[in-house]
Amino acid sequence: MNHFSQFFTFLVIVLATSYIDAFTRNDFPEDFLFGAATSAYQWEGAVDEDGRTPSVWDTFSHSYDRGNGDIACDGYHKYKEDVKLMADMGLEAFRFSISWSRLIPNGRGPINPKSLLFYKNLIKELRGHGIEPHVTLYHYDLPQSLEDEYGGWINRKIIDDFTAFADVCFREFGDDVKLWTTINEATIFAIASYGEGVAPPGHCSPNKFINCSTGNSSTEPYLAAHNMLLAHASASKLYKLKYKIKQRGSIGLSIFAFGLSPYTNSKDDEIATERAKAFLFGWILKPLVFGDYPNEMKRTLGSRLPVFSEEESEQVKGSSDFVGIIHYTTFYVTNRASASIFPIMNQGFFKDMGVYMISTGNSSLFEWEATPWGLEGVLEHLKQSYNNPPIYILENGTPMKHDSMLQDTPRVEYIQGYIGAVLNAIKNGSDTRGYFVWSMIDVYELLSGYTTSFGMYYVNFSDPGRKRSPKLSASWYSGFLNGTIDVVSQDSTQLQSNFSASSSL
Ligand code: BGC
Repeated sequence: MNHFSQFFTFLVIVLATSYIDAFTRNDFPEDFLFGAATSAYQWEGAVDEDGRTPSVWDTFSHSYDRGNGDIACDGYHKYKEDVKLMADMGLEAFRFSISWSRLIPNGRGPINPKSLLFYKNLIKELRGHGIEPHVTLYHYDLPQSLEDEYGGWINRKIIDDFTAFADVCFREFGDDVKLWTTINEATIFAIASYGEGVAPPGHCSPNKFINCSTGNSSTEPYLAAHNMLLAHASASKLYKLKYKIKQRGSIGLSIFAFGLSPYTNSKDDEIATERAKAFLFGWILKPLVFGDYPNEMKRTLGSRLPVFSEEESEQVKGSSDFVGIIHYTTFYVTNRASASIFPIMNQGFFKDMGVYMISTGNSSLFEWEATPWGLEGVLEHLKQSYNNPPIYILENGTPMKHDSMLQDTPRVEYIQGYIGAVLNAIKNGSDTRGYFVWSMIDVYELLSGYTTSFGMYYVNFSDPGRKRSPKLSASWYSGFLNGTIDVVSQDSTQLQSNFSASSSL
């Protein structure tokens, strides 16, 4: 009996929040995919091995003392072990990303054969265990060579280089990959990386909080997002022309989507919330679905918002087979002077949006309040405003202090609350087709390094062997997926005590 089976013998429960009624895996459509996610820089490690060159994330993390992804979970060497853990867990899908600078070390040009082998082996291992790969092409890790050469995403040259990189991925891996996301959370990527300076490559206007070496927070986020839309559309066009008929996959773009709700029932707050939705969702989704930016953004930004030519608009429109949603928490929105959710600066995107975002509970940058109703609101909004697109929830989860406990009860409560919300949304007609927990395993974290983590498996980062240990959330998710757990009651006590009897850090 594996460690999960031991827990299941005792499980009678689980922990439903008062928000949801009982449900099981079988209440979801059979082809719905339940998975978990990581990304290349956060999971792989082996940054100097087998021909990989630095990405902007390597450079960025080495310029701070928040740790780095040099070794991370050592997924590059331990992928077989991790796939086994996924299989034991009953995971139906695994979302990971491809390191561009591992695959094409100079950003463009020759392909690194060792990297082909690694990703082919990983995909084979997943398929061999019946796990569907969901591949993200770009997750914050531009080859440093392209940043140095022309400034990366703020230069239109990125469109051709990204398309050529995507071409290699489709050609080499596409027979076994049916789900592709071109770019991870395009919205927050543009804001955090080019407006606030808190994510690689760390651009921002001069300010007293963060020392960015370059940037312009009031123009670069819009330029970067524009080029992302064009690069996505170009890769998508290529896929459809050259590969789709044979490979029969789908290609989508993902956005970061907070739950948003008016702070009061005043008309002003209602309008402010609609404006926030236009900025935070419409920025990417309006072009993808209707071919142009939202009027609210055009009015506010004027010439700072790039313009699509007619041809570009046609190419961007309809270029996503699905929308990827990265969702963590909800904010109340009020029509006051603007404020950044990154409380570091107050310029650029958040100022332009012109709303004040208030946490719905005890959320901070590193701890997020579970508000499943917020996700349900997002899914309903997308259904109504964007022609009910197919949706994959590509990330959802909650951080906890890394060296806390294997008994991550708040995470279990969080995840099951959100899964319940997805089920409600589906019952209300949302075309949501999959749900991925962030993260499958503790990884190097984007904003907090190794101090907080989201994993369902604990990783001992002080151990050279990077030992993995299942947390309560891994047991819960596994039980849910294998049908040994129905979400039926509020009683978490037994699950916790059975778990703690058989596990330790
Ligand atoms: C990013 C991940 C990150 C996670 C938690 C997401 O928005 O895609 O890379 O680790 O947030 O901060």
